[in-house]
Amino acid sequence: MTAPRQPEILLELRAVHRTHGDGAAAVHALRGVDLVLRAGELVAVMGPSGSGKSTLLNLAGGLDAPTAGEVVVEGVSLDSYGRTELARVRRRALGYVFQDLNLIPALTAAENVALPLELDGVRARDARVEALRALEEVGTPQLADRFPDDMSGGQQQRVAIARALVGPRRVLLADEPTGALDSETGEEVLAVLRRRVDAGAAGLLVTHEARHAAWADRVVFLRDGLVVDAGETSATVGGAVARA
Ligand code: ADP
Ligand code: MG
Repeated sequence: MTAPRQPEILLELRAVHRTHGDGAAAVHALRGVDLVLRAGELVAVMGPSGSGKSTLLNLAGGLDAPTAGEVVVEGVSLDSYGRTELARVRRRALGYVFQDLNLIPALTAAENVALPLELDGVRARDARVEALRALEEVGTPQLADRFPDDMSGGQQQRVAIARALVGPRRVLLADEPTGALDSETGEEVLAVLRRRVDAGAAGLLVTHEARHAAWADRVVFLRDGLVVDAGETSATVGGAVARA
């Protein structure tokens, strides 16, 4: 008998270390983390402040490089890319929702969301169509032509999430994406993430709240740069109930 075929691995961290600074001042933000994310999996990352959660996401998103070990996205080590190629992979394969929103103030919501596609050579008209679809997905199509300064914090956050989801990206990274949102909007955003993952993406979600982690299939707990525990959530066995 052959083993059932597992979904494709979209993100893998292999023995990843990240040390900031050196000598006596060195901070070991990550001390040997292994993680495998397959298509269809949403994994929550929890742990106290300073445990390495944001460092882990930055490495997974190619915004920072490991001191040792490797980060593999869709089967290719990020090490093997040059700068320009890495920027391209980040726009195409990786969706990253920042803790701080980073919308470009001079661009409208639709332009902000369309930007990564346009940088990839998608024609402006097509990029706008995709951007409007992504804004629709996060429930804010009416904001398309507004500028960030004219939006509430929660609205800006939804636009940032639309930008992270636009296009065919399959590795979605979110660092406390519900931070500036009221709880109802926060849940909606997690629902969007969950739907994208169910449609074949993989997601890594940093959160402080057990209620949010319940949207994930697994929870990974970090302490002092190490994974100290990893377990399934009720979503795995009773997802529909846990998420209802
Ligand atoms: P978390 O997101 O879990 O709060 P971080 O990943 O932000 O944790 O930080 C992990 C550790 O690494 C902390 O001790 C933090 O002070 C340190 N750290 C993070 N980024 C840097 C940096 N750029 N330079 C020096 N130390 C850093
Ligand atoms: Mg953090």
